[in-house]
Amino acid sequence: MIIVLKPGISRKQESFVLAEIRRRGYRPHVMRGVARIVIGAVGDERTHASLESLVTEFPAAVESVTPVQKRHQLVSREAHPASSTVTVRHQVIGGKKFQVMAGPCSVESEKQLLTTAVAVKAAGATILRGGAFKPRTSPYEFQGLGEKGLKLLAQARRETGLPVITELLSENHAGLVAEYTDIIQIGARNSQNFQLLIAAAKTGRPVLLKRGLSMKIEEWLLAGEYILAHNNSNLMFCERGIRTFETYTRNTLDLATIPIIKQESHCPIVIDPSQGAGRAELVAAMCKGAVAMGADALLIEVHPNPAKAWSDGAQQVSLERFATLMADLRPFIQAAGRE
Ligand code: PEP
Ligand code: MN
Repeated sequence: MIIVLKPGISRKQESFVLAEIRRRGYRPHVMRGVARIVIGAVGDERTHASLESLVTEFPAAVESVTPVQKRHQLVSREAHPASSTVTVRHQVIGGKKFQVMAGPCSVESEKQLLTTAVAVKAAGATILRGGAFKPRTSPYEFQGLGEKGLKLLAQARRETGLPVITELLSENHAGLVAEYTDIIQIGARNSQNFQLLIAAAKTGRPVLLKRGLSMKIEEWLLAGEYILAHNNSNLMFCERGIRTFETYTRNTLDLATIPIIKQESHCPIVIDPSQGAGRAELVAAMCKGAVAMGADALLIEVHPNPAKAWSDGAQQVSLERFATLMADLRPFIQAAGRE
């Protein structure tokens, strides 16, 4: 912690502050400048009492207190300089191979899911997505097939060999969802639901953590920290767009998070251009950008008949469009040094 004292304070005030810093478990190093005194308080900010309250406790003496230690530890690259990978059945996310998770927004029926699963696999997708429990803004909208949807995902996995990813909406369903899925998705609306994060971590399944609609990157990293802090090292961050003043797109897909997450964390970064753009015709361009910028994987919504989809119809790409997108992505994947 760096503590800046106010100009012109007395020796007595200074020694009060120093005594308080020591009392809270830190070693103060005093630097005397021309106009003011700066104190470097050495100690572990995670385990020692906070010094931030010095500003309010000694308002006449302390001007500011600035932490120097990052609050996220386990997810940070400082803690783990090599990039980490997440292994899901036979697929490795974050390694040389570029991974594409694709499938419908919601699981609607056996025919819809199986048709999509077979088609996305043929086009080169490596993991099947599909929501069984859906976080819908309105209670009158389709809420997902629940357990029946999970069973269909397991059936699709049996028939295609693709590992599956599906969303966990409630702590009460953690055991049930983990029984069927290979990856647990934590949705944007739940990304700071800390009890849900802990429940997801404890299942032992890999976790894909979406960025919340108005979540700062540091908050996202700290939400990810919950997963690692609960002994689950298989974490992926997923950018899916944030809410801004722009309404042309459903969300503003923040591709800057790719180099930022790579810099700050060792965990893989996945891009979801479907929720990001909210418009099917923009998905391919967003995918190319994401690959070029170094994303490890994509999460794409694909539907056999987007116009008839029970959720997110406007942003789901058709099977044909997906096949074209995958072919168009090839040179970008190679240029990014991936397979
Ligand atoms: C989804 O993937 O269908 C979804 C609901 O995502 P998000 O939580 O990012 O809105
Ligand atoms: Mn969706």
